[in-house]
Amino acid sequence: MTTPAPVIQILDESTVHLIAAGEVVDRPVSIVKELVENAIDAASSRITVELSTAHGVISRIRITDDGVGIPSDQVRIAFLAHATSKIRTGDDLLSCRTLGFRGEALASIAAVSYVTMVTKPKESEAAICFRITGGEVVECTETGAPNGTSITVEEVFFNTPARRKFLKSLQTEVAHITSLLESFACLYPGITFRYLVNGIEKFSTHGGSDLSDIFRALYPSDAGMMIPIRGEDGNTVVTGLISLPKLVKQNRQRFLIAVNGRLVQSPAMISAVKRAYGSLIPGNVWPVAVLMLAVPPAEVDANIHPTKREVRFSAERKILDLLVRTVRRALDDADLLDLPAGPDEDAQISLSDLPSPVPAPIRYGSVAAAPVTRQVCEATLAGYRTTSRQLLQTRLQESADEATKDERFPQLFWIGQVGGTYIIASDKTGALFLIDQHAAHERVRYDQLKQQESLHLKTQELIAPVVLTLSPSEAGLIPSVLPVLSDEGFIIEPFGQDTWCVRGVPVVLGRYEDPETVREIIGTILSEDEGPVRLKEQVLRLVACRSAVKAGAVLTPEQGMDILNQLSQTADPWTCPHGRPTIISFSCQELGKMFKRV
Ligand code: ADP
Ligand code: MG
Repeated sequence: MTTPAPVIQILDESTVHLIAAGEVVDRPVSIVKELVENAIDAASSRITVELSTAHGVISRIRITDDGVGIPSDQVRIAFLAHATSKIRTGDDLLSCRTLGFRGEALASIAAVSYVTMVTKPKESEAAICFRITGGEVVECTETGAPNGTSITVEEVFFNTPARRKFLKSLQTEVAHITSLLESFACLYPGITFRYLVNGIEKFSTHGGSDLSDIFRALYPSDAGMMIPIRGEDGNTVVTGLISLPKLVKQNRQRFLIAVNGRLVQSPAMISAVKRAYGSLIPGNVWPVAVLMLAVPPAEVDANIHPTKREVRFSAERKILDLLVRTVRRALDDADLLDLPAGPDEDAQISLSDLPSPVPAPIRYGSVAAAPVTRQVCEATLAGYRTTSRQLLQTRLQESADEATKDERFPQLFWIGQVGGTYIIASDKTGALFLIDQHAAHERVRYDQLKQQESLHLKTQELIAPVVLTLSPSEAGLIPSVLPVLSDEGFIIEPFGQDTWCVRGVPVVLGRYEDPETVREIIGTILSEDEGPVRLKEQVLRLVACRSAVKAGAVLTPEQGMDILNQLSQTADPWTCPHGRPTIISFSCQELGKMFKRV
């Protein structure tokens, strides 16, 4: 039996709206984005965003602005699909400077929730209160209200249960909204933003500030490591802030790119910026950046993605080159020399005993090499002490379990060190070994951490507690990661709004651990959206990584040998906890082949 051909029908209007809505508003954060963009387009100087939560979901979103408002006879039209005041014809797209232009947001939001809008242009005597639920108008009356617009969205996705189910945890959804609003606050420092969750203010900014002020208010612990950038090419201008190489993140969450005030995602621009950092940062991390591009509207097409998240440029090459040049110049001008301040230990060594500096010029791909700059691979007394202290800690806690040792590990002897990063060694067969000192020591650290897990040797109280001032989005996540952090030995207590006090750290971080490391570890954990199981492993790896001897630390032969001996005690000396190799070897025969001797 054959199935009959299906009947083709045109969908009814409400189904069409529901489907179209899914393209524009797929989660609460996209509703907030559309509504804040409308408020910005309405020339507002104050925008307030209020969230309410109940029963594990966002129960209400309210956005209030003091912008131009909507005339009473147009409120109904504003909620129709493809109704916009921002363009008239396709040609207008070429000169469009507003964030919206498709006339889809209000219609889409109204299709999937209960919306109440109260709006009053300053020319009007009375305000209009307009209520629409699931696309049906239920009220349109006059009322009293201040100038501007307030829109309240409730019962989000009430008629799309599948979508409702698909939402992540409340904390994650709120965190997305918080970081979106932080981004808007950075991009529009002239606007006063207020953000409240369940009536509690999460942050507010003061209009008339500049980007640096806002950044400092939102991310106080990062602000000191940011440098301003500015570059132009014809009528394309890039401005913003980028981080010094010492401030990097494990993901791209703090990498904001805006084109003509619109937040966009652009892998091409991110890699251009990473290219500009060159070897100053490792390949698997990202700098913190706020990049604001002003491009003539005719040269950028924002109309290629349902949420306008991607844009296309008519002269992409030119823009990427401008970015690379601008970031490089800012980094060249910045003072990158940053010596670690070690604790005052009685080291029996003077600076002249340390290995002589190895100049390591920074190279920038195909572009003419930068001048040999103040570089990181210089031996310093402070650096020597830091390394010794790190090595001492792993040696003291050593409980070498001979049974777990990898028998294949060769007996190595020291030849030297290159680039402040790799140990050169050999064994009795004359093979050549290159060892990544950081990866090697990280492996040692990691193994010890694992051992301590079973020994319950976890917490060590800090002599001076570290106070963390978190961004609102980070603070929102703290409750969910706190149990895992405390399992791993962090003692963290509330210390006022968005401020937390770290009193204890995992024992391997040591008493003298520099506050920046503690902040960095917790910041990294908070910026990643991981489940609790991965989180535990992640904490372990981060602690191992941050407490290990750094790449760029010039080693004495004794320190180098110490790392090799400690590595030889581990069960899996060949890779670091992230799976990267710790050792690369070339047998005599391989060397012979390379030199075409055999
Ligand atoms: P778009 O922003 O693409 O024009 P929307 O559906 O988001 O489409 O909004 C439709 C219209 O409603 C806008 O063009 C604008 O005229 C009006 N509007 C929406 N929100 C506001 C607001 N907060 N203040 C003033 N006018 C608004
Ligand atoms: Mg809009």
